[in-house]
Amino acid sequence: MVLADLGRKLNSALSNLNKSPVVDEKVLDELLKEITKALLESDVNVKLVQTLKKQVKAKVKPALESTDKSKEGQRKSIIQKAIFDELVQLVDPGVEPYKPKKGHPNVIMAVGLQGNGKTTTCTKLAVHYQKRGFKCCIVCADTFRAGAFDQTRQSATKAKVHFYGSYTETDPVAIASEGVAKFKKERFEVIIVDTSGRHRQESELFEEMKQIQAAVKPDMTVLVLDASIGQAAEAQSRAFKESADFGAIIVTKMDGHAKGGGAISAVAATKTPIIFLGVGEHLNDLDRFSPEPFISQLLG
Ligand code: GDP
Repeated sequence: MVLADLGRKLNSALSNLNKSPVVDEKVLDELLKEITKALLESDVNVKLVQTLKKQVKAKVKPALESTDKSKEGQRKSIIQKAIFDELVQLVDPGVEPYKPKKGHPNVIMAVGLQGNGKTTTCTKLAVHYQKRGFKCCIVCADTFRAGAFDQTRQSATKAKVHFYGSYTETDPVAIASEGVAKFKKERFEVIIVDTSGRHRQESELFEEMKQIQAAVKPDMTVLVLDASIGQAAEAQSRAFKESADFGAIIVTKMDGHAKGGGAISAVAATKTPIIFLGVGEHLNDLDRFSPEPFISQLLG
């Protein structure tokens, strides 16, 4: 079920509550059943869904116990608020992501498996910050994939963003260090380091990420996660968290047929905030993410 469908189902459950002349335990159970079903169909982790259900029940218990009929409307708004707050909790780990500062060389390192949209997202990020007055650039430290540097070169050129990389150097740590050092000297303010997303062995990929992290000391490491991988997002984000401790997540391909719930579960599994959503293949298709507006929009 795609995200828009999830929104529709949640809305329909809430409007059934609104229409109900009485609000009692039975009505609440029916509502929670519909909400739970919709979330599970969207790939949200079953434990998270159970927690949401338990929390809503605990929050609305005192209101339901009151037998005062005149408070029916009040009971409805207490339930609606509890559901809204718990949905926000699903996407809010309560951690503030790093915010680039003007006049400072903010180093952002992007990690994630090949195909997740890392290279595209690096350019989108550069465009985003460039529009906000930051002097931006990209370092291509992916020496594993043939054509990686060409892809960076093409998209960075299109976006009028400075870039650094090499056709001959095979050591990604050396490229990352040299590129970041060069751009720091030239007083760039957002220096984005794109890394490899594939290796002969997964352990080699993680080892390389650690080495690049140690070399460039990023202010923020971002995991780029493809929404269309569904429930696999959780295991993938855990594996990356153990090796390249990232402080933010960007979920890509939210414009497609992605269910989105897997990515939401990755937030909880790694206690890391989502900062942007990729919503298309174009360089401007990057939406800022914050929990409350996201849930408000989802509920229409
Ligand atoms: P990388 O291997 O992780 O660097 O992935 P790429 O940046 O090369 O992207 C892989 C594919 O996903 C490309 O065809 C991109 O155009 C596409 N892509 C990336 N982000 C998005 C997005 O937000 N929405 C859509 N629809 N496609 C995306």
